[in-house]
Amino acid sequence: MTEGRIVKVSGPLVIAEGMRDANMFDVVRVGKDRLIGEIIEMHGDRASVQVYVETAGIGRADAVVSTGAPLSVELGPGLIGGIYDGIERPLVEMMKLQGPNLLKGTDVPALDRNKKWKFIPTAKVGDVLSGGDIIGYVDENEVIKHKIMVPPKMSGTVEKIESGEFTVEQTVAELKDKKGSIKKLSLMQKWPVRIARPYAQKLPPLEPMITGQRTVDSLFPIAKGGTACVPGPFGSGKTVVQHQLAKWSDVDLVVYIGWGERGNEMTDVLKEFPEITDPRTGESLMKRTVLIANTSDMPVAAREASIYTGITIAEYYRDMGYSVAVIADSTSRWAEALREMSGRLEEMPGEEGYPAYLTSRLAQFYERAGKVVCIGSDKRQGALSAIGAVSPQGGDISEPVTQATLRIVKVFWGLDSQLAYRRHFPAINWLNSYSLYKERLENWFSENVSHNWTEQIAEASRILQEENDLDEVVKLVGMDALSPEDRLTLEVARSIREDFLQQDAFDRDDAYTPLKQQNALLGLIFRFRDDALKAISKNVDIEAIADMKVREKIARAKSIAEDKYEEEYKEIAKEIDTETEQLIKQGGSGR
Ligand code: ADP
Ligand code: MG
Repeated sequence: MTEGRIVKVSGPLVIAEGMRDANMFDVVRVGKDRLIGEIIEMHGDRASVQVYVETAGIGRADAVVSTGAPLSVELGPGLIGGIYDGIERPLVEMMKLQGPNLLKGTDVPALDRNKKWKFIPTAKVGDVLSGGDIIGYVDENEVIKHKIMVPPKMSGTVEKIESGEFTVEQTVAELKDKKGSIKKLSLMQKWPVRIARPYAQKLPPLEPMITGQRTVDSLFPIAKGGTACVPGPFGSGKTVVQHQLAKWSDVDLVVYIGWGERGNEMTDVLKEFPEITDPRTGESLMKRTVLIANTSDMPVAAREASIYTGITIAEYYRDMGYSVAVIADSTSRWAEALREMSGRLEEMPGEEGYPAYLTSRLAQFYERAGKVVCIGSDKRQGALSAIGAVSPQGGDISEPVTQATLRIVKVFWGLDSQLAYRRHFPAINWLNSYSLYKERLENWFSENVSHNWTEQIAEASRILQEENDLDEVVKLVGMDALSPEDRLTLEVARSIREDFLQQDAFDRDDAYTPLKQQNALLGLIFRFRDDALKAISKNVDIEAIADMKVREKIARAKSIAEDKYEEEYKEIAKEIDTETEQLIKQGGSGR
């Protein structure tokens, strides 16, 4: 083991000499308190080490010892419901030990060493297994069956397999490899966070990740295994969007990496998430959530590592065949941590002081998303979707972090401060946002929701675009210059915006809309449009059409509960027809 000596300490950065035999990205222990750090640069026998905990109290000539292994996380039962820092230290357990000051370097393992789990074996003695094969499972909680897998790269014949109660460290099975040596398997494995866990094959993402958020699912859908970003200025609703996705998405597990941009935001998450019931299971949301919490007083290096720690945990559950979402709020805080470390290393700064490798580091995160065939002989499939918020200064999306992210991700939900100011939430700008999955998902939507899904949404998008053009005309020549058909387009566009796109995250019935209801809701708006066109052709005044009483009902239709909407929407559709007929009967009093 390499042991060197500190020559310089600069905040979280320590330079040590005598490290010639250490490797880039080795984890090291610094000083007599054995503070945990990672080598991030090597020059000859000099290693630059980013230390993951507060470095006060260490100084020149203190020892730096390489462990010879890269920064790794523990993967095994007990992760779910856990709250970790960026290097997977369990925050609650640490607080119990040392109070709220989390900066010091206590070594509390991520997974509880004393807790016993009931292991149910599924493999048998004599089975020939390789990486990814399932040897048994543990019921991690009521929601997640935790599959115990042969670690990647390991293989052999089962010599012994147990059943019963075990801690994460005890041996549950033994494999004999080709050379005859015995490999012990426990419920836990380790994996270096900066290296993607292997899969057998990447698959095209053809299935949507259903979020119940109408603007997302209908206009700018994300695929299971897809990548998306939510850029927006302060207060535009990034965190609310991310929370909605974490709460409602139809995934098996969410890894939420939070930064807490506002005072108590992370505390709010910690308080709120356990109280929410997961609509899919009826259990607490925490039973399908792993939280990685960063606060601004946590050491910069741990904040930088957090997105890799989060995505590694997500990959591990993906490997079991689950659909997992990683949600990071906000990646700008991560990029700032990267920038700070780069500055301390005195690297050549790129745009706005971010290092030149900003894009490649971001890519290393998002490229770990995907729909895959997992390793393991049963060819199970898993999906990992990655969604990151970005908080550009002043909302200027030409800044480096947003631009780098946009080059990588396939969905852009651009939040707009104007919309937020007008309290149009979610403030996703429908004119400049996009989803590159949209076309590929069309088949799925028409087969599983409605044959008119694609057509109807294309029409809604067209109308919103037309509204934008007509607004320009109105500004120039006034409303009176518009034809009744154009006036109607503006009315329909307003209805699409207010009655469909606007969605109140804090209204129990509005917060989530199933896909069929989304389709039916747009259907009501188009029913109105089609009837209104008929009325216009019969010379009914557009003002009278705009004032139709039933439009109030269309406006409230989004908050009709999932189990009632079908019937009530039918009623509303009938009322649209009757009210239009009445207008036509009263005769065209139009111009
Ligand atoms: P950001 O993370 O972009 O700074 P937040 O997500 O904290 O912004 O949102 C700011 C505020 O906007 C919220 O506290 C809430 O009042 C309002 N808001 C955002 N999205 C919604 C929504 N979908 N429904 C209702 N209110 C919202
Ligand atoms: Mg926020």
